[in-house]
Amino acid sequence: MEANGPAFSDRERIALANVGLTSLFTVARGVAEGRVRSVGEGLEAAAWGAAAGAGFYAAKDQVGRGRGALGVGLAFASASLAENAATGGGPLGHVRVGFGPLDLRVRTPLATRPGPALGVGVDPLAAVALVAVPLSGGRPVVRGGVLVYEHSALDRTGTGGTYASGTTLGRVVLMERDPAPHVPRHEMIHLIQTVQASAVTPRGMLGDVWRGGRRTSPNGAVQWDVRMDWLYASLGALDKLLADGPKSGWAEAEAYELDEPPPTPHPCPNRPPDTFCPLPTGYAR
Ligand SMILES: [Zn+2]
Repeated sequence: MEANGPAFSDRERIALANVGLTSLFTVARGVAEGRVRSVGEGLEAAAWGAAAGAGFYAAKDQVGRGRGALGVGLAFASASLAENAATGGGPLGHVRVGFGPLDLRVRTPLATRPGPALGVGVDPLAAVALVAVPLSGGRPVVRGGVLVYEHSALDRTGTGGTYASGTTLGRVVLMERDPAPHVPRHEMIHLIQTVQASAVTPRGMLGDVWRGGRRTSPNGAVQWDVRMDWLYASLGALDKLLADGPKSGWAEAEAYELDEPPPTPHPCPNRPPDTFCPLPTGYAR
């Protein structure tokens, strides 16, 4: 620890931003959908949104430490908390799990409002990718509970000697066949950002791709809808517009910071346990 170091480390700033912004956006979604109508309801949504934000940070941190499936599980648990807080029906009223273009929302016995037992959400871009990416040579594989397309053509997409060995577009994750170890972790963090933004995206606004037709099964137990995550897409576009380099902008800064585990301090005699020590003589560098 430096005597005049920054008040917060980069990781602490990222954690605080996740907690604060998820809380804020959870309340905003609740207000936009008419579920948050009083200061008390707003404070309740803010508290659950903050808990969800802490969960999203933990999810990305776990992914960066190589525990992909745990991170993705945490991300969907956090998304469930934020969605429940924004839409009412009890803080544990439904559990959301997602894979590829699908999001399943399963109603729990703790739900406080009547509703379908199962909600099925389809991401149209990811649904198109399911057919289009394999046709263009991408191979679907499952990594850490996530559908990923391995694509050898990715290494020809760059210009000027640089290329992306992975890229994530909403729910669609593309990666070259044998990427550097941090690449799958980096792209999975982008996927969690998408899930995080979708949890606080108001429904019934802009994102409803398909408004016509019947969306509930005859007995009312299953409901489905087709939605774009317009909030993440527009925040992402704004982020890229304001960024001044490939690693700048909040989405990239977060992914680059968290896609490696934090350096582990080795034991240092006569100093507090969390301080870094000068490397001892003869230490292999
Ligand atoms: Zn990135």
